[in-house]
This record gives sequence, structure tokens and C-alpha cells, in this order.
Amino acid sequence: MFGGQGIKVGRILGIPIRLDLSFFFVFALVVFLIATQIMPDSMDGLGGAERWLYGLVGGAVYFLSLLIHELAHSLMARRYGMEVSSITLFFFGGVSLIREDSQRPGQEFWIAVVGPLASLVLGAGFTFVALFALSDGTALRNIVFVLGVLNCILAAFNMLPGFPLDGGRVMRSLVWRLTGSRHRATRASARLGQLLGAAMIVYGIGGLLTEIAFFDMGFNSLWLALIGFLLMTQAAQGVKAAELERDLASLRVGELMLEPPVARTAEADLLVRVLAPSRAQLDQQDVFIVAEGGIAVGIASAVQILLLDEERYQSDRLRDIMLAADQVQPLQPDSGADEALQRLQKERTFVLPVVERGRLLGVVGLEQILKALGQGPPPRLDPSAGA
Ligand SMILES: [Zn+2]
Repeated sequence: MFGGQGIKVGRILGIPIRLDLSFFFVFALVVFLIATQIMPDSMDGLGGAERWLYGLVGGAVYFLSLLIHELAHSLMARRYGMEVSSITLFFFGGVSLIREDSQRPGQEFWIAVVGPLASLVLGAGFTFVALFALSDGTALRNIVFVLGVLNCILAAFNMLPGFPLDGGRVMRSLVWRLTGSRHRATRASARLGQLLGAAMIVYGIGGLLTEIAFFDMGFNSLWLALIGFLLMTQAAQGVKAAELERDLASLRVGELMLEPPVARTAEADLLVRVLAPSRAQLDQQDVFIVAEGGIAVGIASAVQILLLDEERYQSDRLRDIMLAADQVQPLQPDSGADEALQRLQKERTFVLPVVERGRLLGVVGLEQILKALGQGPPPRLDPSAGA
């Protein structure tokens, strides 16, 4: 329920929506702000309950605004054929968890930019309605106006040019376009994100500690320092991810793959329990090339055999569990390990075939990539898309 993932509150267009605990803090703040600060003087006599009801409605619309911002990211990612695992709302926005990285700078640009655009349209719309369609001095007008301002702030803040903010992603797509190198672009925008975070911390702490008017933002100083700290932490992760991506890109699949006889060849009709009579002694890193009449038709991994239930382990043949060669697009020996890793994640498989001119050369899996990198747990290339 609680924890890093947040509380699941439902699904929209098939995407699970979650709320981080920090979201409730901001929600309460918005409700409080509306109920106590922005009611017009003419409503001084208004009963307490009514004020808080206005606050709650305003808070709910703010929540919907954040959701629309994230849905814009998610739907654009879907348009490019990417799978969106979830949307989590937390205190200064949300995160759309997209299962893959953009393949081209143009995709990255549009996925990043539509979120702030959605917020800007909402912000301008609310502000316009408040100024021109609602009569002065009413509670409704004040609430709609505040929602307009909040959405404009959301759009502006997210367009700051530091990764992982949307503006940082937009910048990453531009640098990527110019240099042709994604990891360089990630590193550049993540460094800017670190700088931006540091500047916010300095400005925020300056406001808390000094009386200098330039710094003085009251309570907002603390807020700014906190956001700066979060931004800096996430940007630092972005720098690390960029370095990992660079290392991955420099490794060739041909150097990592397991070839025969290390990758053992076995006939497709062979029973799994005959191939691996004792699962306890099966090496988790083993891979098998599945052949039929001397021709490779697929691949299988020890992990797949270990995951079979007892019934299937007793009755399945290799052909039943193998990843058939014609089911997946094979890797080339000169493909980068970064591509291999993305494909493993996308296909949700443990191994992929490496093929040259129609001939199966070998098999590459997560184990081989991690070993070559000298890494422990599986790396995550992109924490998310869209702040
Ligand atoms: Zn965003």
C-alpha cells in the first residue's frame, strides 16, 4: 500500500494511477490555501464548513490538473508505441513510468513538451475564465484564478532546463539532435539539473538565514530548498545513468555473447527433464541453442527451466519453452550492449539470439551484460520520463 510506489487509486485508459504520500501534503496545502487565504472579504461571514468545501473542490481540480499533465506525457509515449506502466503523483508534479527510452530525439522532445503545454493551456484557460467570465469578488472566481496561477507555475517550473524536469528532457532532446549522442545529452542536461538544484538550495537557505530582501520568500524559501535537494539527487542519478549508458554503448554484443560449445546445442524434441535431470544443479547462467535436424530454431535459458512449474517441467519439450528464432528480431554481433539491454527489457525475456546473415552465432542475456560491466543488480537506464 504505502511505500515508494504510492497508493493505487485507480486506472485511466488502462494506466494505473498512484498517489505518493507527499501528494497528500500538497493537496492539504492547496485546500488550506483556498479555504483560508483566497476567499473574498465579502465572504467573511461564510461558515467554516463552506470555506473548506470550496477548498476541497479546488484541491480536487488541482489533482485533476496534475493528472492531465501526466496523461499528456503518457499518451504521447503511447503514440510512439511505448508502454506506460503507471502514473504516480507526488508533491511537485508526477512521474509517468514509461517502460522504454525514446529511440529518437524527436520522440523525447514531444513526450517531454506536451506535459507543460497541457498545464499552460489549463492555466491560461482558468485564468481567462476567472478574469472575463466570472464576476468580481466571488469565491468561485478567486478559486478558478488560483487554479490558473498554479497551473501556470507548474508549466513554468517543469520547463526549467535541468534533467529530470521536462525542460531538461526537452534540452536533452535538442543536444541529442545536435550531437547525435544520447548519453552526452543526458549528461549535459543532468549536470544542469544538479546546478539548478544547487542554486535552489542556496537561494532557499539564503532566504531562511538572511534578512536580505532579494532572498526573502518567507515559507517558500524552505519549500524551494527542499525541491532543489530532490532535483539535485535525481539529476545525480541521471549523470550516473548517462555514464552507464556510455559504457553499455561501447560494448559489442559479439564480444559478450555465449557461443557454442559454451552455449550448448540441444534438439527441440528433447524433454526438459532429460536435458536438466536435476534442477537444483542447473547453472542459472546456462543458455541453450535449440536445433532441429542440425538447424538452430530457437534459444532457451536455464532461468526459464528453473521457473517452470513441476507439471510442465515433467512434460514439456525444449520446443515448448524455447524463444523461437522467428518470434524475435535478432541482435547483430555489432549491436551495442545498450540496444541489447533495451530489447531484453522490451521483450521481457532473459536471452536474445545473435544472428549474422541468417546464421545463429550465439546467445546474449542480462547475465553476460552485467558481468561485462562489472555490475551487480540490473541497471535502470531511465528512472522515468516526465517530472
Ligand atoms: Zn511533466
